[in-house]
Amino acid sequence: MRVYKFGGASVKDAEAVRNLERVLRLTGVDDTFVVISAMGKTTNAMEEIVDSYFDDKKGMVEAVAEVYEFHLKIVENLFEDKDHAIFKSIAALFDELRGFLTWNKSPNYNFVYDQVVCYGELLSTVIISTYLNKTGIENTWLDVRNLIKTDSNYRDVKVDWDRTQKKVSKGLEKNKLYITQGFLGSDDNNFTTTLGREGSDYSAAIIAYCIDAASVTIWKDVPGVLNADPRHFQETRLLEKISYREAIELAFYGASVIHPKTLQPLQRKEIPLYVKSFLHPQDPGTMVGKGMGIEPEIPCFIVKKNQVLMKLSSLDFSFIVEDSIGELFKLLHDYRMKVDLIQNSAISFSVCVDNKFGKLEELLKNLEGKFKVVHYENVSLYTIRHFDTAAIESLENGREVLLEQRGKETVQLVVNQS
Ligand code: ADP
Ligand code: ASP
Ligand code: MG
Repeated sequence: MRVYKFGGASVKDAEAVRNLERVLRLTGVDDTFVVISAMGKTTNAMEEIVDSYFDDKKGMVEAVAEVYEFHLKIVENLFEDKDHAIFKSIAALFDELRGFLTWNKSPNYNFVYDQVVCYGELLSTVIISTYLNKTGIENTWLDVRNLIKTDSNYRDVKVDWDRTQKKVSKGLEKNKLYITQGFLGSDDNNFTTTLGREGSDYSAAIIAYCIDAASVTIWKDVPGVLNADPRHFQETRLLEKISYREAIELAFYGASVIHPKTLQPLQRKEIPLYVKSFLHPQDPGTMVGKGMGIEPEIPCFIVKKNQVLMKLSSLDFSFIVEDSIGELFKLLHDYRMKVDLIQNSAISFSVCVDNKFGKLEELLKNLEGKFKVVHYENVSLYTIRHFDTAAIESLENGREVLLEQRGKETVQLVVNQS
């Protein structure tokens, strides 16, 4: 069996859903497990619902209505029969969502987030599965929350591999097409959990691992993995082949075309990953697989914007060594900072972090009693793999470099955002 993953961009409107149907017809539909994200920017819209729920609830009703309208338009475009059961299915999902928002008593933001945001994926998969069945592409819709089991660290869960393996391998039939949600799982109490933003690539890898898939293909709005993000760099080039190791490095440093957690399960079972264009499904795209380095071998650029650089030094000129570094990492973990880069010397310690969970102020308050702290917000972290002098110069380009770190294959620069 093979696993396909279609992200938000590939199902952003009715035309995109028709294109997904075209991709399936071109590449065949048997023995395929399809993982689908929420449509377009729906997850952001769901986050707004959660925020207004915790704010003053004023904008909430409107925010829910907007998401409803967005999906209704797509459904109206895809189903000419206005009495089709899909209209009831969609309305029922919204009733469920409104019910949760009315009756929920939990003040836990992350818990509420997962119970609400999941409707993006539930809606997209119900619409697409029903649409495909209507057009003659027979498929079975699965609720991924019955398959992927996780802990209860809402919004950033860890997968319970043993339980997931057991659930996924139960009852799958040969020659079938399955449709399920990316991004979601469930905990011991069967509450919905999410794998972290952009986590649907990871969902595809989890399922592929559990069913020993022959391959995974993630369908994107780019021709494959390029040597830089075309949104931020001009003249990008397609990487034809990449080893797992290289892809893990690129994803880890922030090449957001592949979610960083995706590669490890695939590498463990040597399942090849293809990154392909949903607009040109017959083009080869990029193949990620066993031991091939990178082809062509050219510098690869990665940028992470809106990062925070903290430069810490000891208050009394004492060394920053094991005990204080240990304490620092504990704090970074407690405040859920994602660490991008560290550099230390005898009495100073610099760390570049992604303030993903908005806890920077609390962390700084805590640190300020213990260290002298200088911090810079909104900095960009550039990483170049397989760098050469010209590649570094093209990035520096007269900008103030706040921190530089060089290894054999990788150079990283933290610069003020321009
Ligand atoms: P999805 O629709 O699956 O969520 P994403 O938007 O997460 O897709 O990923 C595709 C986007 O990743 C592209 O539109 C591109 O802007 C960005 N991207 C970042 N780095 C790269 C890279 N090295 N190669 C190709 N695309 C990249
Ligand atoms: N819909 C989720 C998000 O936008 C998961 C994903 O698309 O990968 O983050
Ligand atoms: Mg995405």
